[in-house]
Amino acid sequence: MAVLVTGGAGYIGSHTVAALLDRDEEIVVLDNLQQGHKEALLGGKLYVGDLRDDEVLDRIFTENTIDAVIHFAANSLVGESMKQPGKYYHNNVYGTLCLLEKMNEYGVKKIVFSSTAATYGEPEQVPIDEYDRTQPTNAYGETKLAMEKMMHWFDTAHGIKFIALRYFNAAGAHENGKIGEDHQPETHLVPIVLEAALGKRPHISVFGDDYDTPDGTCIRDYIHVSDLADAHVLAVDRLRTGADSAVYNLGNGQGFSVKEVIGIARTVTGEAIPAIIEPRRAGDPAVLVASSQRARTELGWEPRRSELEHIIKSAWNWHTSHPDGYGDSM
Ligand code: UDP
Repeated sequence: MAVLVTGGAGYIGSHTVAALLDRDEEIVVLDNLQQGHKEALLGGKLYVGDLRDDEVLDRIFTENTIDAVIHFAANSLVGESMKQPGKYYHNNVYGTLCLLEKMNEYGVKKIVFSSTAATYGEPEQVPIDEYDRTQPTNAYGETKLAMEKMMHWFDTAHGIKFIALRYFNAAGAHENGKIGEDHQPETHLVPIVLEAALGKRPHISVFGDDYDTPDGTCIRDYIHVSDLADAHVLAVDRLRTGADSAVYNLGNGQGFSVKEVIGIARTVTGEAIPAIIEPRRAGDPAVLVASSQRARTELGWEPRRSELEHIIKSAWNWHTSHPDGYGDSM
C-alpha cells in the first residue's frame, strides 16, 4: 500500500515525504515542479505532472496500490490570488475536483488535506478554534475553503474520508540539513529575515508597527515544518483506523510579533539585520494564533520543535548551507 503525496516536492510536502520515509512507507509523489524541487525529494517514486492531467492520474492509480492521499499541490500566495483568482480556482479547486473524481473512480477513500488558517479570515477570537467562523479575506483562502467543502460532499456521496489541517506560519528546516525552504519569489518573514542576515537583502521591511499589539507589529503562530509533517502522518494513521472526516488546526498556541522574530534571528545569526518600518501589507490581520487542542487530543499530535529559537536555528542552518536554495551545493 502506498501513500500518494501531491505537491510532495514542495516545502511542507518534502518534509512530509521525509517523515513517511522514516516509517518505511511506500511513497508516490505527483508534482509539476513549478514550485517544487526534485532535489527536495529524499525518496519515493516521482511522477512529474499536473493534477488536472487525466492521463498521469490514471497511470499513478493503475501502476501503484494507493490507500491514502496527502494533498499539498496548490498555489498558495495570497497577493497573487488577489490579482489572478482564476489561476487559483483552476489549479486549486478544479485540480482537487480532478483528484477526488479519480480517487472515487479507483476506490481510494482517504485524503489528508493541507488546508490553511486563511480559511478563517479576520479571527472572531484568539486563539482560533475549528468551530470559528470561516470567512476568507482573500481568494487563496476562499479556494482552500471550497476544496474542504468539496471533500465534505465527496464524503457524503462516496464515503471518501478527509482530514483537513488548517495551519498558520510554517518555518524551519529538516534537522538532517538536506531539505528546507526555497520559494521563488520568497514572501515569508523568517526566510526573508535570514536572507537579510546573509546580506542577500539590504534590510527587512516591517509591514506596519501601528497594530493593536504590545509592540505594534503583527503576531503570528510559527510552527516547525517537521511538526506539520508529523501531523500529516498522524492524520493518515487516524484515517486508517476508520475515523470520520474532521478539521484540525495546527499551531503552537503562542504568538510572536514581527519585531520578536527579528530579535530572535539577530541572536541566532549574530548579525545586525537592519529593519525598516514600512506601511501595512494589505490583508494582514493583527494577531493569528491557533488553538490546536483538538489535534492534540484526537490525533495525539504534540509539536516537538516549538521553541521559536529552535525553529529559526534550523532555518538558519539550511540557509547558510544552501545560500541559493536547491540551486547549488546539493
Ligand atoms: N512580514 C513583514 N515583512 C516581510 C514579510 C512579512 O513584516 O518582509 C510580516 C507580515 O506582514 C506578517 C508576518 O510578517 O505580519 C508574517 O508574514 P508571512 O508572509 O511570513 O506569513 P503570513 O502571516 O502572511 O501567512
